[in-house]
Amino acid sequence: MNGVSLAKKESQRKAEDAILDVTVPAGEGWSHELLPGQVLRIIDVEGNQAADTLFYDAEHPHDHYSVTRTIAGQGGIYLTTSSVLRAESGKPLLTIIADTCGRHDTLGGACSAESNTVRYAHDTLPMHNCRDTFLLELAKQSERYGKRDLPPNINFFMNVPVTPAGELQFADGISGPGCYVELESHGRTLALISNCPQLNNPCNAYNPTPIRVLIWDN
Ligand SMILES: [Zn+2]
Repeated sequence: MNGVSLAKKESQRKAEDAILDVTVPAGEGWSHELLPGQVLRIIDVEGNQAADTLFYDAEHPHDHYSVTRTIAGQGGIYLTTSSVLRAESGKPLLTIIADTCGRHDTLGGACSAESNTVRYAHDTLPMHNCRDTFLLELAKQSERYGKRDLPPNINFFMNVPVTPAGELQFADGISGPGCYVELESHGRTLALISNCPQLNNPCNAYNPTPIRVLIWDN
């Protein structure tokens, strides 16, 4: 793990108390607006599945999740328990309050038709990808959103270690069946998930699987 310790923490919340409990099939998208204090749990149901995720300040829709603000704010490149996810303005959007995986990526970005053709082969061009799923889900939320509203994202459950030489590796997952991450929303926050359909690297163990999403009132 490149000397990085995993900050695992379990939650006491029970699924039967959740106000929302949905399964997002492999390769599909999901979006939902969280209210202040609500808690979102994302579960890696079968293990080794990447959940590409973005957050937006619902009161200021163009103020979206910022990788640089988040990394600079916590002084570290991996996300786990107690990480504060910040918007471009610096505003805290959510805090990770539980995490049984222990480490999540926010450097690797989302797969797209363009990155697939550059990384793999030109015949991957028509393959389903996270960028298209994000755009489809954003369009459902509001016509005010467009391509310019897609910033670099979070890859929950994805293992992208940074080597001592400073290179990114798309490595086999450190998540397992039933691992989850739980986040508390500070304000009204739009959550946008692409349950990654990627088949060309090990981020989904070459076999995309469902994720499950739960929300609790606090
Ligand atoms: Zn993807």
